[in-house]
Amino acid sequence: PTESLVALYERSVSEAANSIALEFFGRTTTYAAFGEQVERVAEGLRRLGVHAGDRVALVLPNSPQHVIAFYAVLRLGAVVVEHNPLYTERELRHQFEDHGARVAICWDVAVAKLQALPDDIALSKIVAVNLLKAFPKLKAMALHLPVRKLRDTRAKLTQPTSGTLSWEQLVASPRIDPEHPKPSVHDLAVIQYTSGTTGVSKGAMLSHYNLFANARQGEAWMHGAQYRKENFYAILPMFHAFGMTLFLTYGILKQARLVIFPSFDVDLVLAAAKKTPPTVYCAVPPIYEKTAAEAKKRGISLRSAKYCISGAMNLPESVVELWESVSGGLLVEGYGMTEASPVCLGNPFAPSRRSGTIGIPFPSTYMKVVDTEDPTKEVGVGERGELLIKGPQVFHGYWNNVADTEKTLLPGGWLRTGDVVTVDADGFTTIVDRVKELIITGGFNVAPSEVEAVLRTHPDLADAAVIGVPSPHGGEKVVALVLLRPEGSLDEKAMRAWCRERLAAYKVPKQIVVVSDFPRSMLGKVLRKQLRDEFLTRQG
Ligand code: ATP
Ligand code: MG
Repeated sequence: PTESLVALYERSVSEAANSIALEFFGRTTTYAAFGEQVERVAEGLRRLGVHAGDRVALVLPNSPQHVIAFYAVLRLGAVVVEHNPLYTERELRHQFEDHGARVAICWDVAVAKLQALPDDIALSKIVAVNLLKAFPKLKAMALHLPVRKLRDTRAKLTQPTSGTLSWEQLVASPRIDPEHPKPSVHDLAVIQYTSGTTGVSKGAMLSHYNLFANARQGEAWMHGAQYRKENFYAILPMFHAFGMTLFLTYGILKQARLVIFPSFDVDLVLAAAKKTPPTVYCAVPPIYEKTAAEAKKRGISLRSAKYCISGAMNLPESVVELWESVSGGLLVEGYGMTEASPVCLGNPFAPSRRSGTIGIPFPSTYMKVVDTEDPTKEVGVGERGELLIKGPQVFHGYWNNVADTEKTLLPGGWLRTGDVVTVDADGFTTIVDRVKELIITGGFNVAPSEVEAVLRTHPDLADAAVIGVPSPHGGEKVVALVLLRPEGSLDEKAMRAWCRERLAAYKVPKQIVVVSDFPRSMLGKVLRKQLRDEFLTRQG
């Protein structure tokens, strides 16, 4: 790309002015109206004192306002900082301390949390978006909020919120002067926090160039520009790299109709499918599984779904089969990470896709697989090593964190993914595990995913997460935390014997513990670091 994301949205607004850009609970907005609101909100933000290079925090669930705010901030040359809208005060404090945004655009549910942030935090202006008030259907259930929590929130909403402005006030501003400077292609566009699976989340700095490049790469991957104005189901959170690129940049580039869901709710999705059939479906495996199973049960057609993409975690073959029995196209797996805008590899949208693999490098993307201890040494075909990536989508470092940047970005622009992979003779890559999660026990490396896969096939177990904990004998010992099936029970000794039949002795868990659930990210990924910390605390 030679232009910024502002040029991307402006082109779609002028070319597709009368097409629908946004749909939310049945209400629609055309590209022309979307563009107009972006320009008004941009002017409103400018009057609040937002300059080029300033960070502006978004604390919003998926909503039309999220899409509009994203481009309004970029229009000023300012930097979007995304947040999980359900984060607690403590988690928000960590991020606000880190990025120092002075202005936040925040949904009603989180306003009180932002107001409670300590005084030494730079935040001084909060724009409140009344989503709950405007969309009564946006119920506690759809947001995974416990009902009690929602009641607290309502009580807080009725309190006077001094120091806040309303979204409506911003939208009532005049349109921004067309001569007001726009960002250039290499400017910083977004600070995107990583999921925090392996530790404290870090703010990845993504430029307009990075994000525009990934949208263009996605376009080439999905067979070029022959399709437009598709119905994209925007279920995945826009505050995460995966949803941001699929919907906010790629979707708008393709002049798509974004059918927006505040979170995944199968009833909402299937009701929408009857009116606006999905043609592009982007989700994670648990969402595919649930949508397909319910559609089948209720006899609802999803044949309209031609392009179906899964990522963020491994995609089981059973889910592919189930989904493809109701959809009208292939379900293919891709791979990415926040630091790469995020997509780096994907399976072809063709029968040559290979289930269980993450496919081949994206257009203009290079990869190599190196020794996990020595990244200058490449490993051979079929051998395990750490995946390194290079391409126009690779970020330039973490915000405020030179130490982690130096560890992650190697000379020559190679990004250390932290993922252990193998590559087969045809060039298809398979994820084995994460470097940080490999368990070192008695000099051997144990890949948790291998042990988990064995445990998951046990009839009494619904799921398993395997971690390494310090062993009194030095090194680490393998511990399995398991979720039982409703009718299942645990006989630890028998379970270990069962593992022993299928795994080398050093891989068999020394301890198997039943838990009620795993801590998970918004995408449903198990947060291993937290799981391990919680386990260690409980053990004393
Ligand atoms: P943190 O970096 O904060 O510990 P995180 O790495 O989970 O968290 P993300 O950037 O959201 O944060 O996720 C990227 C990671 O997700 C990859 O490094 C990889 O481990 C995993 N991942 C992505 N796609 C797939 C996939 N198709 N199959 C398996 N794992 C995947
Ligand atoms: Mg990571």
